[in-house]
Amino acid sequence: MTNPERAQIPDLDSLPWPDREQIDLARYVEVWHRHHGMGSVNLITARGCPYRCRWCSHAVFGYTHRRRSPRDCADEVAHIVEAYRPEQLWYADDVFTIHHRWLYEFAGLLKQRGLVRPFETISRADRLLKDEVLATLAEMGCYRVWIGSESGSQRILDAMERGVTVEQVQWATHAAKRHGIEVGMFLMWGYDGETVADIEATVEHVKKANPDIFFTTVAYPIKNTAYYREVADRVVLDQDWAGATDRDHKLRGQRPRDYYTQADQWLRNAVAASQMAASDPPAAAEKLRLAQQARDAVLAWPVEA
Ligand code: SF4
Repeated sequence: MTNPERAQIPDLDSLPWPDREQIDLARYVEVWHRHHGMGSVNLITARGCPYRCRWCSHAVFGYTHRRRSPRDCADEVAHIVEAYRPEQLWYADDVFTIHHRWLYEFAGLLKQRGLVRPFETISRADRLLKDEVLATLAEMGCYRVWIGSESGSQRILDAMERGVTVEQVQWATHAAKRHGIEVGMFLMWGYDGETVADIEATVEHVKKANPDIFFTTVAYPIKNTAYYREVADRVVLDQDWAGATDRDHKLRGQRPRDYYTQADQWLRNAVAASQMAASDPPAAAEKLRLAQQARDAVLAWPVEA
């Protein structure tokens, strides 16, 4: 049995802000401070993402994009700053810079009201391709933007229907850094059809883009996504359904975790070698040796029966 879909709320300003008093936010901010050097509180300025990356779940907000008004968001920032005094904010939108006119208006309000605070957020490279957008983010206090880069292989990006090119990711990364904004990158191994050549392209891409930080994950099909439907006949769940999460869905034919651990070692050591090449050649040589060792392990991985 499936519940019918609920109508979406068109006017997000009509909703109250999250009732943060229901949790021990002081402790949350303190734990953030202890682990990251800055206490953080998050908020969202919009619901939904209209893009259609095949593996991404839209189960909660659908494919719509609904924004709160800049004024309501600025009011919430003012409240957070006054009530919890975090050292930074986290704008947890799917694509924070999706609507440029909205961004400029919001930035103007924050400035006018003395609400400029350091923050992190997430966006897509193709919504960061303007110096004006990046300059605005920097003025608003953005010190790190996370970009879903996923792969350095255009073939894989196209298979994902990301709607972004490798060159756009590289341009956005370099441009953000030029504006004094750190870049964090999300990468995904093991999308269906990925080959060693695609992994190699990702290693080269990250070396060239040179983000300040990057995280990798291994692809898994989430129910009700286009990706899941595409690979459904190969999805395996080898544990009790009730205790499983999306991440436990394996794809028959996908390489095991150890393979991607080697791909990770290849990537991390190759990027470190590239970063150290000029400043510390002996350390760079050692990193390169480790990268080559991991690359050899990936290349020598036995083909699954
Ligand atoms: S991955 Fe990001 S850009 Fe793509 S559909 Fe999901 S939220 Fe939107």
